[in-house]
Amino acid sequence: MSNSPRALITGASSGIGRATAIALAEAGYDILLVARDEAKLAKVAGEVEGKGQKATTLSLDLNDVETIQSKLQAFIGEGGLDVLVNNAGIGYTGRLAEMPLADWQQVMNLNVGSVFECTRAVLPMMRKAKAGTIVNIASVAAYNAFPEWGAYGVSKAALVSLSKGFAVEEREHGIRVTIVSPGAVNTPIWDTDTVDADFDKAGMMTPEVVAGAIVQTVLLPAAAVVEEIRVMPSGGAF
Ligand code: NAP
Repeated sequence: MSNSPRALITGASSGIGRATAIALAEAGYDILLVARDEAKLAKVAGEVEGKGQKATTLSLDLNDVETIQSKLQAFIGEGGLDVLVNNAGIGYTGRLAEMPLADWQQVMNLNVGSVFECTRAVLPMMRKAKAGTIVNIASVAAYNAFPEWGAYGVSKAALVSLSKGFAVEEREHGIRVTIVSPGAVNTPIWDTDTVDADFDKAGMMTPEVVAGAIVQTVLLPAAAVVEEIRVMPSGGAF
């Protein structure tokens, strides 16, 4: 029976989520992995187990926000949860004036609504334990406007505000909330169907660098909290 602390990571099949799963496993955490793609999740689970930690996977479309609370709670079970990393998100480019309303709603639903429900799924067990760390992956786009990234920027600004709301409401229960806002990271998000961007990936950070920053915030003693960090490519933002 493992006595390792447990971390649940959404969007763990790829990019920053995958790298965070591996880095937290290296730090001694058992990992609960959530995303849609079962094959990719299984591969990351193998990488976590390669670090000597337990991995369990849940294939879940987080767009189905109504089902999140019951499914996550069943997945976590009686083992409790020490860390939640709300990382799953959709990248989206399109000018505000022209984008379909349904696209706007989809970006808000996943990038804000699913985080709302994932967080509310774990609060009862964290409150009971009087401890827990929640890390929300926002973006520099929450603060800086970039043409065609308007809807995405609004979703991440809302996520920052949501995180601050949970932070002030839940700290009396021993629960910490950390916002991690990265600049450009070289992940598959730049090649998804909803993103049309032609950037030089050589100047971007690697997901491992961002994962390292996330792990440092998680490992801070419980008497302190990193409320927010921005992690940027040292060569400059774009
Ligand atoms: P990524 O490699 O494309 O990973 C996105 C993850 O989210 C995947 O594991 C994907 O898994 C999951 N996901 C997407 N839609 C989902 C859904 N409906 N239900 C469940 N899981 C879903 O991208 P990434 O760059 O690592 O992005 C991770 C987070 O970092 C996002 O919130 C993003 O906004 C943020 N971020 C990224 C950058 C950057 O430059 N890359 C910068 C700042 C912030 P499945 O496809 O298997 O479902």
